[in-house]
Amino acid sequence: MLGRAVRGRLKTLLPRKLIDQLVLFEAGAHAFRDVRGRYPRECPICGYKGLFWAKGRQPIVIDGQCPSCRSVGRHRQHQLLVLRHPEWLDGATVLHFAPEPCFAKRYAAQLARTGGNYVRADYMPKNDEVVIDLQDIAFPDATFDTVIVHNVLEHVPDDARALREIRRVLKPGGRALMSVPMFEAWDETYEDPSIDSEAGRDLHFNQKDHLRLYGRDFRDRLDRAGFDLTTDVAKEPEVSRYGLERGETIFICTPRQ
Ligand SMILES: [Zn+2]
Repeated sequence: MLGRAVRGRLKTLLPRKLIDQLVLFEAGAHAFRDVRGRYPRECPICGYKGLFWAKGRQPIVIDGQCPSCRSVGRHRQHQLLVLRHPEWLDGATVLHFAPEPCFAKRYAAQLARTGGNYVRADYMPKNDEVVIDLQDIAFPDATFDTVIVHNVLEHVPDDARALREIRRVLKPGGRALMSVPMFEAWDETYEDPSIDSEAGRDLHFNQKDHLRLYGRDFRDRLDRAGFDLTTDVAKEPEVSRYGLERGETIFICTPRQ
């Protein structure tokens, strides 16, 4: 807020405690400005164009949330991906686990219009969602063309079993679209069952109901479950235009034959 020369001069004149207070005030003022959006973005889900809200914590994501449909970067990345592959939804049988509100009605309408079948499911279902435990999916083998599971596996105790179940209910040639909180620089997933309090999980896994944060060995977990992989990674020019999170990865997993 202040010019560099003025700041330098003030630092020599003011007591340290007062300088600290000014630094904190400046950080707060920046944060207050940024939570309401820094640069205009576009939402490929609802068509909104303008400032996005900040979203989340640890870290807070500037320009993260569309104020119209409440989508975050991961959702917009998913939408751009399926817009490039309309056959993954149109006329397809789709299982959408923990369906995000920004998608649910739109995808229900799209699948109804194209003769598809849209199953919305959750472990703790709302409205017309079906009760499903990912570790024991109550559908026959080879039921679905597309399974959508974003940011769910980090909540599931036995994620290896969940991945085998997702593979089981996919038709040959079908695909699961999955993402997890993942740190590419980590060799290994961080999980520790002895951390079982809400505060402990919040501190260690970034959310009180998370059981782990994945490293790049997530790919090995997918491989062991019998999937072949391709990835969709958020990069420019879409990151700037649509407010995606740099490097976020959606795994496109097809059952290995
Ligand atoms: Zn939107």
